[in-house]
Amino acid sequence: MSNLTEKAIKKLNNRGVEIIDIAEIVYDLQKKYISTLTMDDCIKSVCTVLEKREVIHAILTGIAIDEAAEKNLLDEEINDIIKKDDALYGIDEILPLSIVNVHGSIAFTNFGYLDKLKPGIIGKLDKLGEEMKQCHTFLDDIICAIASSAASRLAHKNRID
Ligand code: MG
Repeated sequence: MSNLTEKAIKKLNNRGVEIIDIAEIVYDLQKKYISTLTMDDCIKSVCTVLEKREVIHAILTGIAIDEAAEKNLLDEEINDIIKKDDALYGIDEILPLSIVNVHGSIAFTNFGYLDKLKPGIIGKLDKLGEEMKQCHTFLDDIICAIASSAASRLAHKNRID
């Protein structure tokens, strides 16, 4: 595991997200398509996604913006918009597309699906943000992108015809 991957995983952990939380979402996305799927397969797929440079950069950038907003370090207008997770902001959904873009169209469709449904840790991040006094405006979308990319990898790997 590279230093940057380790750093990204540590950052995710500090923000309340464990690899297993992401793997659970991947499992739910793919279990109906792959009958032999195990949680271990999903954990491995998430870890492989986390090895990619584009992915690490998106994670570290998104979390850096969240952290800057929670410390009120940005210009007031944009700081307020990010901190209150304004529904019309939208840039928090655009940044993680750099993760989805390298994992194909299955990753892309699942990304939109997860953003709407907010299963598991994705939905919990809002409440967790209040408890931990953290801003998770970019983080929830980054988790959507990692999970949908890991699911896409499994879908392509398990194609047998
Ligand atoms: Mg968001």
